[in-house]
Amino acid sequence: MLTNSSAFLKKADKGNYAIGGFNVNNMELLQAIVEAGVEKKSPLIIQTSQGAIKYAGIEMLGAMVHSIAKDVKIPIAFHLDHGTDVDLVKEAINSGLYTSVMIDASSKPFDENVRITRSIVKAAHKKGIWVEAELGSIPGKEDDVDVLDKDAFFTDPEEAGAFVELTECDALAVSIGTKHGVFKYSGGRAKLDVKRLIEIKKYTQVPLVLHGASEIPTELKKVVEQYGADLSDAFGVSARVLKKSIANGVNKVNTDSDLRIAFTGGVDRFMTKNPNNMDPRKYLAAGREATKKAVMRRIDQLGSTNKA
Ligand SMILES: [Zn+2]
Repeated sequence: MLTNSSAFLKKADKGNYAIGGFNVNNMELLQAIVEAGVEKKSPLIIQTSQGAIKYAGIEMLGAMVHSIAKDVKIPIAFHLDHGTDVDLVKEAINSGLYTSVMIDASSKPFDENVRITRSIVKAAHKKGIWVEAELGSIPGKEDDVDVLDKDAFFTDPEEAGAFVELTECDALAVSIGTKHGVFKYSGGRAKLDVKRLIEIKKYTQVPLVLHGASEIPTELKKVVEQYGADLSDAFGVSARVLKKSIANGVNKVNTDSDLRIAFTGGVDRFMTKNPNNMDPRKYLAAGREATKKAVMRRIDQLGSTNKA
């Protein structure tokens, strides 16, 4: 069922686990995530980026999410990911489709970020919708949000405290060393500034959000590489580092790249074995099955199994 309440994030905060923010842009990805959530009895945050909206349309995505969520018992939030376009965020709030939105004004100076975020929080709370905001800047490329390494900066803990107080946002995305995209940490796994995370948590009383936190597991890389992809320079956040960040205040972890790799690997494998197949349902189902497995594994990593 869809839930408007941010209570499940607060519950995760108390229980020291995280809920997955999983990106969707088509029916099969959505089915994979929801089936995994149901099997794991885990709450879910299904999210669409601005790029997903460009691809499939807000109405289409919203209708699919509402349709699938009403048939299952686990709590599901429908969330707008990285709203950098204020008009689109307002459209999402007023659409009656989303249960929560992210306003991302992190590229703006502090005062302007506060002003924009505060206005979105006011509009969203009027409609009973919760808001994720971002302070600090997360490097990398995710759909139409592209931040160069040189322009990225880490979240300042004291500023974070002031930001949450001034904006009254319900969750805060922080920059502590993660990156967006599949090719994020060339040369090895990510190093996160956990000390900074602990400081941020001291100054803020809201659930924190980790973006760009895909694991890029070797097993998933191996599958696509078997069919010609070169992910030798793609690394993610190790399960150990992820666990440490969850223990220190992260309660929402976004995962997109892992799902993309899993889906692609499933399709690759099917089409290579069945080159004469002309039925899209067959290879999309194979992609769906591979994605479901990746999401189930992720839910275990986040600790949200049996928390629905
Ligand atoms: Zn992000």
